[in-house]
Amino acid sequence: MPDEPGPETDPTIIGLPEPPPLGASALPPGTFDDVVVLVTGGGTGLGKAIAAEFGRLGAALVVASRKAEHLDSAEAMFADIGARGIVTSCDIRDADAVASAFDTAERAFGLPGVLVNNAAANFPVPAEDMSPNAWRTVVDITLTGTFLCSREFGRRHLEARTPGSIVNIGASYAWTGGPGFAHSAAAKAGVKNLTETLAVEWGPYGIQVNALVPGLFPHEDMTADIAANLDRAPGTDDRQPAMRTGHRRELGWAATFLASPYARFISGHTLVVDGANWQRRSLVNPQVVPVRTQMGRPRFDSGGD
Ligand code: NAP
Repeated sequence: MPDEPGPETDPTIIGLPEPPPLGASALPPGTFDDVVVLVTGGGTGLGKAIAAEFGRLGAALVVASRKAEHLDSAEAMFADIGARGIVTSCDIRDADAVASAFDTAERAFGLPGVLVNNAAANFPVPAEDMSPNAWRTVVDITLTGTFLCSREFGRRHLEARTPGSIVNIGASYAWTGGPGFAHSAAAKAGVKNLTETLAVEWGPYGIQVNALVPGLFPHEDMTADIAANLDRAPGTDDRQPAMRTGHRRELGWAATFLASPYARFISGHTLVVDGANWQRRSLVNPQVVPVRTQMGRPRFDSGGD
């Protein structure tokens, strides 16, 4: 291979431009003034950034998640951006807990008009090492939790005869599969498929259902497992066609657009925000490195299991 190309050796490599600064918005101020937005897992990472963009546009926020420190962090975000908001403790795997989170939201602000199904669980593990419990946990949170929250939202809107908008947060391995992520990739494929089914079933009742797929958005709340995965290869920017990773506000802007009055005729769509990373192919096939090797795991040994 000749010298690795990069901005240092090739001045034509400029990458995708930086976005406008935090606080800017393509939507008019007050777009969500009369809207309640419920974000699952909205106390950390991408969910928090998405909730904040809705809050900046006037929404009343409801953040549902399990851990007290994440709920505290959501409350700090409300104060930071001057948004109206409440938090509610909820495990989205539990249908009764989901119903009670919606009750709390209704008591505080009214029925959420937007639901962002952002909460998910994930950690890399080769499929042959994956315990049944690991599989069930990720599928239960990511897929079943998304269904239970959507179902609660749909039922309440059908009863009230009011329109609404759901944004499901997906992942690009829904299409491609994801070595090391058999549980999460299968669950996200289910989320993408569910998006399409619900969009058709609930269109007649005024409910839009879309999905948003983030590319690589490193953030300080990433779990140690996911952060360690990024550390396996040096550098992140030059491993993306955009020559940079995403800024969280870029995902927030996409979510607010999908749930805004300007996207009413978009439903059943999955919007990818990843600088084209998931579509990359190589002219020369890269060497295949088994996932266990990438993860530094020794040769598989069932230990007689
Ligand atoms: P994260 O910081 O790990 O956030 C996950 C959130 O989900 C946490 O706030 C967690 O809060 C909540 N959660 C987990 N299990 C829950 C449960 N049973 N009930 C209620 N809440 C639960 O992850 P992230 O990086 O921001 O990712 C957000 C979304 O983007 C996920 O859907 C993820 O799959 C997707 N995504 C992220 C990236 C990326 O680059 N970061 C790339 C592709 C896709 P509690 O622990 O308090 O419950």
